[in-house]
Amino acid sequence: MSEGNCNYHPPAVFFPSDGVGVEVAKKICATCPVKEACLEYALDHRVDHGVWGGTSERQRRRILRSRRTSSTVTLAS
Ligand code: SF4
Repeated sequence: MSEGNCNYHPPAVFFPSDGVGVEVAKKICATCPVKEACLEYALDHRVDHGVWGGTSERQRRRILRSRRTSSTVTLAS
């Protein structure tokens, strides 16, 4: 996080209360040098609030669901 673009913005920006705020935070994340690591951290730790790694809470839930499905398919085959 110390290397992230969020260092230049108030933390509240990344915990928006509406869709417009989510898009603002995602734009800041888009050019962040640690975006991928940030997203993996949020997924690994099941962080369910805020914008992390350029993803909304809903997007992270979707990624986790899709990863669970792929691992189930891999294990079953
Ligand atoms: S990707 Fe992560 S570290 Fe980078 S600006 Fe967004 S929330 Fe901060």
